[in-house]
Amino acid sequence: MSKYIFVTGGVVSSVGKGITVASIGTILKGRQISVTAQKLDPYLNVDPGTMSPYQHGEVFVTRDGAETDLDLGNYERFIDVKLTAESSVTSGQIYSEVIAKERRGDFLGGTIQVVPHVTTEIKNRFKKLAEKSKADVVIIEVGGTVGDIEGQPFLEAARQMRNEVGRDNILYVHVTLLPYLNSTKELKTKPTQHSVNELRRIGIQPDIIVCRSDYPISEEIRNKISLFCDVERKAVIPLPSVSTIYEVPLVLEEEGLGQLVVDKLKLNPRPLELGQWQELVDLIKTPREPVKIALVGKYVELEDAYFSVREALQHAILHHQRDLELVWVPSETLENNGDYSILRSVQGIVIPGGFGIRGIEGMVRAATYARENKIPYLGLCLGMQVMVIEFARYALGSKEANSTEFNADTPYPVIDLMPDQKGKIKGGTMRLGDYPCKLLNGSRAAQAYGQDLIYERHRHRYEFNNQYRERLEKAGMVYSGLSPDGRLVEVCEIADHPWMVACQFHPEFGSRPGHPHPLFRDFIGAAKDVLREGAQPPLPLSSK
Ligand code: GLN
Repeated sequence: MSKYIFVTGGVVSSVGKGITVASIGTILKGRQISVTAQKLDPYLNVDPGTMSPYQHGEVFVTRDGAETDLDLGNYERFIDVKLTAESSVTSGQIYSEVIAKERRGDFLGGTIQVVPHVTTEIKNRFKKLAEKSKADVVIIEVGGTVGDIEGQPFLEAARQMRNEVGRDNILYVHVTLLPYLNSTKELKTKPTQHSVNELRRIGIQPDIIVCRSDYPISEEIRNKISLFCDVERKAVIPLPSVSTIYEVPLVLEEEGLGQLVVDKLKLNPRPLELGQWQELVDLIKTPREPVKIALVGKYVELEDAYFSVREALQHAILHHQRDLELVWVPSETLENNGDYSILRSVQGIVIPGGFGIRGIEGMVRAATYARENKIPYLGLCLGMQVMVIEFARYALGSKEANSTEFNADTPYPVIDLMPDQKGKIKGGTMRLGDYPCKLLNGSRAAQAYGQDLIYERHRHRYEFNNQYRERLEKAGMVYSGLSPDGRLVEVCEIADHPWMVACQFHPEFGSRPGHPHPLFRDFIGAAKDVLREGAQPPLPLSSK
């Protein structure tokens, strides 16, 4: 039977619960304890698929096609698992399920209430993931901050679980913030005390308190939290800010969190093995020569909108023992003859995914720049569509070539809906999750992957229009990845270019620290050797 760890957050949002969950996963997995993770999101949307990236950040897609919170990306990267739809639960899903059951008459005339009906549905989701994953430990992150109205049913369900599975099989971890007061030069514990009181009010006494702070946490502060919050002294775990999120598992382990969890849940660990993480963090902290990459996108003001892309670039950069200098370029600024001198200084250009027309022409301009100046280019989903539009404008000699998403009346609809998608409502027409793709022997994509059949995650509606395949191929476009039936273009590249490759899927979701995604790895491999304006070629080593 699986054991459960519930992770709640106090004082403020964005306190680092997601990374704490992911890191607890890492240090348990480092002891050969199998783990899985689940995120509870209190909002009423069924999933974040329809939310603006400005509201929510990146939408992370699981291999079975669920559109989920970006925290799932961190769980996948830290625990090195592939999660499924069961790992993402929203209030919207819970309420729609309960109401659907009520309409079907499943409750036999009863009055439907938050307790027990909603909380039972929530607990079913905990148990379903435990049964499906068969993990030793299921780590569950309760989204939001303790005290929020929306989060109450989730916390109530977490409380009820204690009696169902027994005290030895459940742990409550509370992550809080210790604010620093400049005037008195001290960290304050009062907000933590209040948020623990709030938790107790609903019947949860935390077993462990993880204290985030921007400053070192003294023994005195730890003792104080232990006393006021009724938590063992060794269960007050300091987590000061660190320079890279990948260091968090090491910090928590050093503070004894791993052993504490093992003892409290009476787990059967193997000796701890975190060597790879240590190497990774050591590498990140070693000064390395930078590679300057431009990320040209629509939502660049909010870096979280491209969370997995940034991480995948980081993994690839570390593979080459270099440092990432990422320039966030709002694509709109490149439009209407806008200043694009920023591109002159970069060694590679990434165009990530996106929806809607805003900023598209700027991305097309960046693609033209990459093609004409032979700058390595990696297109991700929308980034492939942009590459196709750009190449078609060049090959067909018409500025009109476009996607019907951006111009429904274009005479050259090089990106379009497939005939069987047309006329359907928007929902339900997205291609979501893993699809197979066959790679063309000898192509850059096949070289990168080193295999000919791959599975990658999708999240898009539009596709390459096959009517243009031949004409673009004649002009120098290579279709290096196709769906096994040959109908869908999945990867394409430009023949006469050092490295201009784009894919209709999202490879960023599959990248892991220590195992960079092959396309990102080879993109950086090509970019790192590009000499930019003002850069000096490396001096030949002296013969002495
Ligand atoms: N907007 C494009 C489509 O729907 C690309 C989507 C994406 O980049 N995820 O096909």
